[in-house]
Amino acid sequence: MKPAPFTYHRPETLDDALDLLATHGDDAKVLAGGQSLIPLMALRMGRPGHVVDIGRIAGLDSITVGADGDVTIGALVRHEQTRTSTDVATHAPLIATAMPWVAHRAIRSRGTVLGSIAHGDPAAEMPAVVLATEPTLIARSSSGVREIAAADFFHGYLDTALRADEILTEVRFPAWSPNAVGAVVEVARRHGDYALVGMAAMLTVDGDTISSAALAYFGAASTAIRVPDAEQALVGATVSADTFDAAAAIVSAELSPPPDIHASAAYRRHLAGVLTVRGLSAATAEIGADA
Ligand SMILES: Cc1cc2nc3c(=O)[nH]c(=O)nc-3n(C[C@H](O)[C@H](O)[C@H](O)COP(=O)(O)OP(=O)(O)OC[C@H]3O[C@@H](n4cnc5c(N)ncnc54)[C@H](O)[C@@H]3O)c2cc1C
Repeated sequence: MKPAPFTYHRPETLDDALDLLATHGDDAKVLAGGQSLIPLMALRMGRPGHVVDIGRIAGLDSITVGADGDVTIGALVRHEQTRTSTDVATHAPLIATAMPWVAHRAIRSRGTVLGSIAHGDPAAEMPAVVLATEPTLIARSSSGVREIAAADFFHGYLDTALRADEILTEVRFPAWSPNAVGAVVEVARRHGDYALVGMAAMLTVDGDTISSAALAYFGAASTAIRVPDAEQALVGATVSADTFDAAAAIVSAELSPPPDIHASAAYRRHLAGVLTVRGLSAATAEIGADA
């Protein structure tokens, strides 16, 4: 199929793009890498009257590291750019860890990290990385700038806190603690497909004691989702197989994933538990844990 007719805009400046969004409101869509928007339009699952291509706007394609080690990613940074960036590997390593799971290289070369976050697909990796690492999301409109906390960003299936007149221009990831470890794991039918279920784990560890935990799941609800009870069970516990099994049991009991043609709810719940152990083991492997 081909998209329904639309007017294509290619503004040269951010202000012009924001003016177009303010003018056309709900009838306009931002086009970044196009790897999700164009297929949706081709399937007529989206029929925007106006497409605002931000691809020519200068200054949105950089990865910058702040003085305190925070990492800011701009709206035109491609997935592949973060997979190969030494700054990301050093200061925001969970993003780099997620990248090999995101689609295929051709798609990663066009698709943007912020596009994935703005799209809010519950089976995508980056929304879970956002929930686990708690960056600040910066949205601009012609009326000003808004900073949105990660926990407030994902509202529902392909539904986020972004308004129709806003562009997500930057996401600022906090400095990676020297005591932090993390992993991203998933199960997909074929490598590069969206996950049946996946999880992003970020722990801080003091010796062999877990001092904080964030467990974020994808493919397990209508948005990426954390499981606070499992996180609390980890905090204060020692790194061990028993600790991870206990957290996994809570995850499997508490998640209520939707069934679809790819997997039943029960299978997804089971996978979430298996992936909890796998993710926690991978995260702690580098600190010499025996779990
Ligand atoms: C075959 C295939 C397999 C894929 N597999 C995976 C996978 O395994 N994991 C995964 O995570 N993704 C996967 N993707 C999607 C891919 O990662 C997309 O690149 C990504 O989801 C969206 O990024 P984009 O830049 O292409 O966004 P676009 O397609 O341009 O936009 C997506 C949506 O986000 C909005 N948007 C984009 N940027 C902004 C912004 N800065 N501000 C406000 N709104 C914005 C658009 O208006 C649109 O609604 C796959 C895609 C394909 C075609």
